[in-house]
Amino acid sequence: MIAEVIVDITNSMVDKVFDYNALSDTVVGQRVMVPFGKRSIQGFVISLKQQSSVQTDKLKSILYAIDDYQVILPEHIELMHFMVKKYHLRYADCLRLFIPSELRGDTVKPLVKTYVEVCVDTNSYKKNVRSNAKNILALCDYLKIGESYLKSDLTSKFTQSAVNKLIDDKVLKIRQVEQNRQPISYAVKDTRHNLTVMQKNAVDEVLKKQDNYLLFGVTGSGKTEVYMSIIENIVSQGKNAIMLVPEISLTPQMLSRFRARFSDNVAILHSGLSAGERFDEWRRILFKQAKIVIGARSAIFAPIDNIGIIIIDEEHETSYISESNPRYNTFDIAKFRSQYNHCSLLLASATPDISSYLKAQNGEYKLLTLPKRVNDRPMPKIQIVDMLSEIRNGNTGMFSSALLYELDKCIKEKHQAMLFINRRGYSSFMRCTNCGYVPKCTDCDVTLVYHRAENKLKCHYCGKRFKALTVCPNCKSTAIRNGAVGTEQVVAKLHELYKDVPVFQMDNDTTRTKNAYQNILSKFAQSKPAILVGTQMIAKGHDFSDVTLVGIIDADQSLYHSDYKSTEKTFELITQMAGRAGRDKEEGKVILQTYSPRHYAYRYIANYDYKNFFEKELNIRKNTMFPPFTTILRLLFSAQNEEIVREVTKLCYTEIKNIRNEYLDEFVYLDAMKSPITKIKNKIRYQILMRIKHNHEDEIIQKIYQVCDKYQSAKVSIFVEINPQNLS
Ligand code: ADP
Ligand code: ZN
Ligand code: ZN
Repeated sequence: MIAEVIVDITNSMVDKVFDYNALSDTVVGQRVMVPFGKRSIQGFVISLKQQSSVQTDKLKSILYAIDDYQVILPEHIELMHFMVKKYHLRYADCLRLFIPSELRGDTVKPLVKTYVEVCVDTNSYKKNVRSNAKNILALCDYLKIGESYLKSDLTSKFTQSAVNKLIDDKVLKIRQVEQNRQPISYAVKDTRHNLTVMQKNAVDEVLKKQDNYLLFGVTGSGKTEVYMSIIENIVSQGKNAIMLVPEISLTPQMLSRFRARFSDNVAILHSGLSAGERFDEWRRILFKQAKIVIGARSAIFAPIDNIGIIIIDEEHETSYISESNPRYNTFDIAKFRSQYNHCSLLLASATPDISSYLKAQNGEYKLLTLPKRVNDRPMPKIQIVDMLSEIRNGNTGMFSSALLYELDKCIKEKHQAMLFINRRGYSSFMRCTNCGYVPKCTDCDVTLVYHRAENKLKCHYCGKRFKALTVCPNCKSTAIRNGAVGTEQVVAKLHELYKDVPVFQMDNDTTRTKNAYQNILSKFAQSKPAILVGTQMIAKGHDFSDVTLVGIIDADQSLYHSDYKSTEKTFELITQMAGRAGRDKEEGKVILQTYSPRHYAYRYIANYDYKNFFEKELNIRKNTMFPPFTTILRLLFSAQNEEIVREVTKLCYTEIKNIRNEYLDEFVYLDAMKSPITKIKNKIRYQILMRIKHNHEDEIIQKIYQVCDKYQSAKVSIFVEINPQNLS
């Protein structure tokens, strides 16, 4: 037999697949040592075949298998071929997603702890010990024959020399024990609820028939309980489950709830784990010690077979799409795996992505709904506050009088409040603080981004540039501002207003260290009254029973993000944020501060009217031909040398224009230009932007890949981005 082996997968830019003579027991998915030039190196067997195109006498043989198990499952080999074709990835890129770095040449060793076992009766041994050797005598009294002790425990209690003496005298025998590093989670008790009728219907539907489902359930409708019920049933059938959550900040609470119910059957995978923890969890899954995998995006690649359900919580989240190499879309992978395993795929959200809900309408997903909160608890009332009128009334601070009133009340009643600072990315927009005017692209109807370095406004969808605003074209005021309030400013103001109330801050700055999320959240959970100030991180998933007030400091921050999806994102964020209030016995209240109180998004948000918002938004997308009616493609060219990058962009552009001529009806937009950010790390950036309809999308994309392959070189890198989140 001949084995195809991928070698040298960490460094090389090209995929290297080589043929070797297989050993009699070589299997696909194995990690093997192979001769390579004068060295021997590590590789992965990705297929076995009868014949090679290499001459028999030139073929070398696999030296030996490194592990006594397969590190890649058969399913993943197929998945790899699927991804290579669909995303134009290299085999090596896929392996990077499938296998922890420890098995790719890095050195994280299994965590080994040293134990000592007592082999001799210490009472008789003691008789030969000098009476002034107090530590040794005390140690002898402490030890029991046959027992094992952690060596470090004994040395800290009875000194190193005492322990070593007993080891030397063969009273204690050393044993090295491999341990699993388990990511911590804060403990919660499992409160098992009887499912409501609505919950039960959803569970039964999903279990009844293999299909793709979209669960549209308002915040606090008990979706988590639905997931747990489904998974419990699947596990009792002897099958496994994967559940994805969007962000690490969500995982501790969710994980605790799952650990409480399923204990060690749960494994967790996300990028916040240390390399060692990830390695151990990965092995626990591969060795079938865990039946349920919970994690962020990358957990979709978990090495688990016999899958009975895949759940994607908060399916609208952008984090399910990988934007850096290797680029992939989690939903494609989830669909592949659910089909391979003949199991259901369940997407869920309180604010489904517009394109997902459209799919549910078209019958591609089966729609399940939980329209009410558990036990008929009311949705919190959302009050829209016009910040321009606050300014006119002399209040130029960041808190409206309504928010101050509600904060006072919340604190007096010893409840908790969450204040939300909406910041997406670092780009900023300009705004007239007199009338609320925000400049938009004349061609694309999206907000312009202010580029400070050049003092220009730019459209990220067509590349047009505009002068920065100094006078409002609408009301002639010069009160133009850009930039946003930050978390820190809000925290400082709160300290000033409420000296004795604990205020917690949660954003990128305060959560850099490991477990910081958990620490902040668990401290907040224990303090009453208390205020939690934060960015997107605090908006989702959290279930704190005493939060009665949610304040949204400047709702418009994401509304005027330079993105065709910005209204949709605003609807999602604010609905999710509002959903943190009034989840238990106490009723909740939401104060939404805005400079555009009449924007249609806020009207739908305040009424919790997803369906009409969906219709309106879909209509706009249809008229402007943006996704889900088209796909946006960007080819990003970058190189040190401007001449070269301009030349290559031009050549590709010419070829793509030919493709367009072939599919004239399919191209809605095509142009080449400098990228909005023209230079990153000394590399000059150009781009070709296009929007294409869906009819022949796959064909067109494959042709575009071919063009890129032709011009990609060591001097110019070309990235193909499909529906990128960020066009800077
Ligand atoms: P969602 O994920 O939809 O926002 P959760 O699953 O967090 O909602 O549920 C909201 C709250 O309701 C949680 O505190 C949960 O413990 C509680 N809950 C869920 N299902 C039930 C039920 N059937 N009966 C009573 N309480 C429930
Ligand atoms: Zn104005
Ligand atoms: Zn434009």
